[in-house]
Amino acid sequence: MNTKHPKQLYLLFFTEMWERFSFYGMKALLLAYMVTQLNFDEPKGYAILGAYSALVYTMPMFGGMLADKFLGYRRAIIFGGIMMAIGHIVLAIPQDWSFFYGMAFIICGNGFFKPNISSLVGTLYENNDPRKDSAFSLFYMGINVGAALGGLLCGYVGQQINWHYGFGLAGIFMVLGLIVFIIGKTSLKEKGLPLTNKLNEKVLGFIKIEYLIYLLTLVVLPVIVTLFNYYEALDSIMLVLAVISVAYVLYVASKLEKIAKFKLLSALIMVVVSTFFWAFYEQNAGSLNLFAMRNVDMHVFGLELPALSVNNFLPPAWVVVLSLFFAALWPWLNKRGWEPSTPGKFAFSFIFVAIGFFTFYLACQASLDHGLIPLLAFVGGYFFIICGEMCISPVGLSMITKLSPVNIVGLMMGIFFFYTAIGEFLAGKIGALMSIPKNIVEANNPVLSLPYYANVLLQISIYSAGIGVLIFFLVPVLKKWMADIR
Ligand code: GLN
Repeated sequence: MNTKHPKQLYLLFFTEMWERFSFYGMKALLLAYMVTQLNFDEPKGYAILGAYSALVYTMPMFGGMLADKFLGYRRAIIFGGIMMAIGHIVLAIPQDWSFFYGMAFIICGNGFFKPNISSLVGTLYENNDPRKDSAFSLFYMGINVGAALGGLLCGYVGQQINWHYGFGLAGIFMVLGLIVFIIGKTSLKEKGLPLTNKLNEKVLGFIKIEYLIYLLTLVVLPVIVTLFNYYEALDSIMLVLAVISVAYVLYVASKLEKIAKFKLLSALIMVVVSTFFWAFYEQNAGSLNLFAMRNVDMHVFGLELPALSVNNFLPPAWVVVLSLFFAALWPWLNKRGWEPSTPGKFAFSFIFVAIGFFTFYLACQASLDHGLIPLLAFVGGYFFIICGEMCISPVGLSMITKLSPVNIVGLMMGIFFFYTAIGEFLAGKIGALMSIPKNIVEANNPVLSLPYYANVLLQISIYSAGIGVLIFFLVPVLKKWMADIR
């Protein structure tokens, strides 16, 4: 079996790596910038950050769909990349108006860039090529190398030197990603070109559809800026969109012949199920930050590590290590006939998450008398959670490219990302269960806060295990629906 990957995978790896460097570099600065420089109070800062995260993963549905119908993945990636680069550069301008406009450019740009670069990876392999999941594991490594470096470097430059330099640095790396893609894209040959010829058709007799799409995107920018002022309404908008998007996919499925229909339905079920994974996983960005600060012993050889940085750095660092392992594991298992099917991998993902949270819980139980769990238990718990991520996130990207009809891969990829945003929304609700009463926060005593965390960590673990077991039961049905796809 050929286990080597085509060189185009590395082109997409580096393009995405630099794009994620800029994306996460900027995100690392966002909250602190709002609170310390724009003088937003903390709840407002969190609300704007939440609105940004929701919008940034809502737009890929539209960017994916426009790529399917008109632009093709390549044009969409370049246009999205340019928008994102402009966004970062606008954020680097020290003016009041620039903040929300910068974010709006990044939100729209990400909508065009993110789903389509992932779909493009899928075009490099046949659907039943055993290298496909392994390729997405490697691609996912690129994402996380970028995320880890971007967060560290932009965070450092922004906070220590100048906030606008931090944003500017993110912009420079986005431009670098774009240059890599533009120079390398000829090696893709016909891959990622538009599926239809509609692009050059004229609307109203004078404007090409392609230019109309670009123009309309610019018109959306002030709409997004306005939405930031109504962030309370965003939750409802997202829920409505969640229903509409599923209804739309069901409608598309109803028009397909039997085999394609059931393939698409199985993809849809897995997308919806993945929401729960993100709801648990995203505790990393919320409650586990505070848990790390209050209840993890951050001392190593007499040195105290910064809790927030450790908590932010651990997941991408583990992904980088584990992606190589999983990229080799899938073909190894495949050769022996042991590779789990895609829904099987999803089920394992939830079991890993359950083990990870249970590790945190056990460490809490063992530390009730002094209130601080050992750093090793924290690192170890994340190890399992990230094994779970490797079984669902890159596998999910790969699954979308295998199970969706060619003409809606972009849209389905966008919906997959959109459901991660719904997961983040649920994560906020779970995180709120871990809020510590004010008098205990003020007492600043880890012994008092630990039981609050232990209780919810155990519940997450139980729910995750339950969902994992449920999916195991669904595996035979989903496998049947997936027909020749594994
Ligand atoms: N960390 C991954 C990325 O940035 C997954 C994000 C997501 O699916 N929400 O691509």
